[in-house]
Amino acid sequence: MAIIACPECGKKISSRAAICSYCGFQRGEVSEQDLEIFRARRLRDRIYHLNMASYLAITLFVGAFGWYWWDSQGFVQAPSPGPFILMGVAATGYLVLRALLFRSRQQRKELIRKAGPNRDLRRNL
Ligand SMILES: [Zn+2]
Repeated sequence: MAIIACPECGKKISSRAAICSYCGFQRGEVSEQDLEIFRARRLRDRIYHLNMASYLAITLFVGAFGWYWWDSQGFVQAPSPGPFILMGVAATGYLVLRALLFRSRQQRKELIRKAGPNRDLRRNL
């Protein structure tokens, strides 16, 4: 097995891979199963990234709350609008990310259901 560069995205892939696992570029014959595995991997990566982004949104919210506390001198004075804007952005971002995550998880459930006993596919879910 050799490592080659994908002709489409240039990332390193196996010379035996019928489909680039990064961009989905199809090299020669691609079976329906190869495509399913590619979609499954894509979905798995997407769920991972959405999770990471939602943690980032929580961190941002906690940071904004800290800013609010600091700016209001321990909730004594009225703070500047900055912390509230950041809290709002972080909370909205978090909700949007959770909605996208929910949808991706539903799609994964559907893939798992369809995969049934297909071990090659299940390994990638
Ligand atoms: Zn590629």
